[in-house]
Amino acid sequence: MNKLLEKLKSENILSKEELISLLENDEINSELFKSADEIRKTSVGDEVYLRGLIEFSNICKQHCQYCGLRCENSAIKRYRLNEEEIINSAKLAKELGLKTIVLQSGEDSFFTVEKIQNIIKEIKKLDVTITLSIGEKSFEEYKAYKESGADRYLLRIETTDNELYKTMHPKMNLENRKRCLKDLKTLSYEVGSGILVGLPQQTISSLAEDLLFLKGIDIDMAGIGPFIPSPNTPLANAKSENNFLLSLKVMAIMRLMLPEINIPATTAMETLKPNGRIMALQSGANVIMPNVTEMEFQNKYEIYPNKTSNNQTIKEILNDINSKLISIGRTISTAEGTSKHFLNRY
Ligand code: SAH
Repeated sequence: MNKLLEKLKSENILSKEELISLLENDEINSELFKSADEIRKTSVGDEVYLRGLIEFSNICKQHCQYCGLRCENSAIKRYRLNEEEIINSAKLAKELGLKTIVLQSGEDSFFTVEKIQNIIKEIKKLDVTITLSIGEKSFEEYKAYKESGADRYLLRIETTDNELYKTMHPKMNLENRKRCLKDLKTLSYEVGSGILVGLPQQTISSLAEDLLFLKGIDIDMAGIGPFIPSPNTPLANAKSENNFLLSLKVMAIMRLMLPEINIPATTAMETLKPNGRIMALQSGANVIMPNVTEMEFQNKYEIYPNKTSNNQTIKEILNDINSKLISIGRTISTAEGTSKHFLNRY
């Protein structure tokens, strides 16, 4: 096992079989996390980038089996923010010192290309970096957003296992999701993708393939998080015990495969373990995405349950993050936090 880890550290890649061995075996987990932490330190440093997340609509036309926002779920209250509310959240984030705004939503057709373009242009006036995470669109739409000023795009592949992808995403297909990621790269976005770890029927072998896929398309950011069963979805009663540890391992391996990318300590990790975010930051992660959406709406963006931080204000959340980071020898970055991997390509 230790030989595999050494090989991964020096070559930044392993074969599928070797990745499977590493993922299946828990004997050297602490060495794996420590190695990912060391590589994180030498490759991207001790500073942690913060992103202000705005969840601007929970209305979604898709049917993702795991997601609480799926259109069949009539148990959640739907909302969409208007343009002014979105921009006000962005202003608040900017005032609090955040340099990147992440606009995330369900696939909500109300937000036409023009509407999104307008929002991008208004937020750009605040001199911040914009990340979009609004799902699958056409090349022309992605192009229009880029031209309006969007800098980055987050679209997790979720899983590269074709059968599992089909089961999890009725009416969607893996090829189109791959096409989206390719288009985003062609358009010179800083591209983030990632994996949902621990889905029912997901195999270790497919996780190994997911890692090789993300390495192969040369992403700039990787969001890797555990699947959490969400009420009123077909997977409400699915098993999920091992998902935290497994996603931490997948994340640590990703860091060793792509040393200079940005990796968020995902909210889902914090939801599953009280100190999950700090554990992630000590196992390869270098980004945190505090939610700056007004609390009333955060509570309704229920991708999965217990996602929100016990009604603290955003200022309190940031103070909390700051003191936790200091306690582990890390600091909040004042830079805009472009992925080093991305910068080195240009
Ligand atoms: N509509 C956008 C944003 C989706 S929400 C898109 O398609 O990209 C952001 C992420 O939440 C998803 O990519 C998915 O990986 C994650 N997610 C959804 N349901 C989840 C669940 N039950 N547990 C953990 N993560 C979940």
